Amino acid sequence: MLKTTLDQEADKLLACVHCGLCLPTCPTYHELGNENDSPRGRLYLMRAVAEEKIDISPTYHKHLDLCLGCRACETVCPSGVNFGNLLESARAEMVETQPEKLDWWTRVKNFFVGLVLKQVFTRKWLLNLVWTTLKTFQRSGLVSLLLKSGLFKYLPVLEFALALLNKAESQLPLAKQLLGNNSGEISDNTFELTYQVAQFTGCIMEGLFTETNRATTRVLSTNGCLVEIPSTQACCGALHAHSGFHKTAVMLAKLNIDTFMPIGSKKDFPIIVNAAGCGAMMKDYGRLLANDPDYSQRAKAFSARVKDVSEFLATIDLRKARPLNTKITYDAPCHLYHGQAVRQQPIDLLKKIPGAEFVPLVGAEMCCGSAGIYNLTHPTMARKLLTEKIENIKQTKAEVLVTGNPGCAMHIGAGLQLAGEKTLLLHPVELLDLAYQLA
Ligand code: SF4
Ligand code: SF4
Repeated sequence: MLKTTLDQEADKLLACVHCGLCLPTCPTYHELGNENDSPRGRLYLMRAVAEEKIDISPTYHKHLDLCLGCRACETVCPSGVNFGNLLESARAEMVETQPEKLDWWTRVKNFFVGLVLKQVFTRKWLLNLVWTTLKTFQRSGLVSLLLKSGLFKYLPVLEFALALLNKAESQLPLAKQLLGNNSGEISDNTFELTYQVAQFTGCIMEGLFTETNRATTRVLSTNGCLVEIPSTQACCGALHAHSGFHKTAVMLAKLNIDTFMPIGSKKDFPIIVNAAGCGAMMKDYGRLLANDPDYSQRAKAFSARVKDVSEFLATIDLRKARPLNTKITYDAPCHLYHGQAVRQQPIDLLKKIPGAEFVPLVGAEMCCGSAGIYNLTHPTMARKLLTEKIENIKQTKAEVLVTGNPGCAMHIGAGLQLAGEKTLLLHPVELLDLAYQLA
C-alpha cells in the first residue's frame, strides 16, 4: 500500500529538499520538538519503511499515530508533498496489511475502533440507533448534571468525553433565543429558482447536527437553489481512511458515487457539503479510485462536483440578510483550510451579515486537536492544543465562534464549556440562516 503511493508520489517525495518549512506549522512538532514527530521526520520514516531500510515497529507506529492528519504541512510545502495521502497509506499498511508488527495494546485499540467504524458506520439502522441513544442520554439532562456535579474532576478523560457528548448538537435553537430578536429591516423573501444542487448530509451531521443540515437546505433554497437530497447516500469514509481502514473507505466512496452519479448519469451540478472533513474526503475520491476501471471516471467527475457550502455560496449572488448585532470570530477547520484550500470564503460570507462585528482569531488555521477521533485516542496532545485554542478565543471576546466541521464544533464546544465560557458555537450557514430569520 505505502509502496504504491510512494511510487505514485515518488517525484514529490524525492523533491523534498528537507527545507524544514513545514516544521513550525506542525502542532505535534511545536509541542514536542522531536524531529520524528514533525512532517519531515515522518516522511523520512515512511520512506525508510517503503525502501525496506527499517521495518514497521511500535516506535514507527507511535510517531505516525501521533500525527493529527491536519495537513498544515501541505499548505507550506514548496515541493507539493501530499502528506495526507501518504499518511493514510502508511496507516493502512500498519492496520490492514501488517497488524502483527504492532504491540498488543495498539492491536486491541485498532480492533475496537475498527469494529465501530466498519460495523456501525456502514449500517444506517445501527448508526441511527446509536445516535438516538446518545441524544436521549444527552437530552435527559443527566450529562449536564454529571458535569456540574464535579464527580469527574479527577477523571479528566471521562469528564471531557461527557462534555463532548453535551456539545454533540447544533446550538442554533439556543442562538435563536439569544440573538434572533434583533430588529432591523426585513429582507426580500422572494427568490427565483436559479441553481440546482445536491446536498450531502453525512452521518454525524445528520445524526447529531440535524439542525445544521436543515439550516443548510434553507439557506441554499432561499438563495434560489433546487436542493436534491438522495436518501441512499452513505458515510463519506473519512474516519475510516484516516484510521487506516482503507478497504471500508473505498467501499463507502463507491456507495456515494453510485448514489450521486449512477452509471450513465449526466449530472454535473454541485454536491454541497457542510462538514470540512467529509468535503476533503469526497474531493479525494478521484485519487482513491484512480486505478479502479469501473469507478475511476465517475470518481473523478464526482470529486469535481464536490463543493463546501461556503465555497458554493461565494460564487452566487446572495440574498440580503437582516442585521445581526453580535461579535463573531471564525476558526478554520484544517480539512477546509489546508485540505481544500477554502480559506477566505467562510470569512467573506460572515462579513456579509450586516451588524455582525468580525474579530480575527489568532491561530485560526492551527488544529484544535479534534482531528476525527484523535481527541479520544490521544487525549493529552488534543487537550494541549485545545487549551491554546480556547485562550485565543477568549482574547477575541466574541459572543459567537463560527466553524464548519462537526468534530471541531464538539471539541471546541467541550473546551469552552469546561473553561466556563458562554461563547456560542455555530456553523457559517447557521449564522446566515439566523440572519435570514428562516429557522
Ligand atoms: S516543507 Fe516540504 S520540502 Fe520542506 S521539509 Fe517539509 S515536506 Fe520536505
Ligand atoms: S499533518 Fe499536521 S500533525 Fe501531521 S505532520 Fe503534518 S502538520 Fe504535523
